[in-house]
Amino acid sequence: MFNLILFGPPGSGKGTQSEKLIARYGLKHLSTGDLLRSEISRQTSLGQAAKNFMDKGELVPDEVVIGMISSSLDENPGVAGFLFDGFPRTSAQAEALDKLLQLKKESIGVMLALHVTEEELVKRLLKRGETSGRSDDNNENVIRNRIIEYQNKTAAVADYYQQFNKVVMVEGEGTIEEIFNDLCAEIDKRIK
Ligand code: ADP
Repeated sequence: MFNLILFGPPGSGKGTQSEKLIARYGLKHLSTGDLLRSEISRQTSLGQAAKNFMDKGELVPDEVVIGMISSSLDENPGVAGFLFDGFPRTSAQAEALDKLLQLKKESIGVMLALHVTEEELVKRLLKRGETSGRSDDNNENVIRNRIIEYQNKTAAVADYYQQFNKVVMVEGEGTIEEIFNDLCAEIDKRIK
């Protein structure tokens, strides 16, 4: 299996690039944001609890997302690999993911970290808010709060993987194709 983390702040293009990467490499896409939004639209109790955090731009508690990922790993035996998008977002999530993968004798192959400036992020998220129907995208205060949560809690996740030399920075500004080509080049160097 080849397991990949696509990392970066909100609005850095993880969702867009994930779609292209899973098509090229046949990976199973696990986006905690998508999984949470699906729980909300199905009006599950998990979704209702998560919505309160998401609407404020805060992270959902670790145990909730870790449980979701654990189930998703179990539900997809025999895949070519997983592409984690929007997860892990805290050091505790990163440690939990390592343990879950270890139980399956698997590990993370690489973390690809998209670099985008804050002004560009806010611009992209506000633009996405015009069409995405996502309530957390059309309020600048909520967007700023998501970026603050990223800086306070999520940025450290890159340090966690850095200790194992698994982090590669990729420029996240440019055309979608340019960024995709850069990501693929890094994956191709590592995939067997
Ligand atoms: P974006 O990358 O644009 O922030 P996501 O769809 O990844 O969008 O996440 C939307 C929201 O879902 C986050 O602001 C957060 O509240 C919640 N969320 C998603 N993934 C996680 C996670 N791994 N841990 C905690 N909260 C999460």
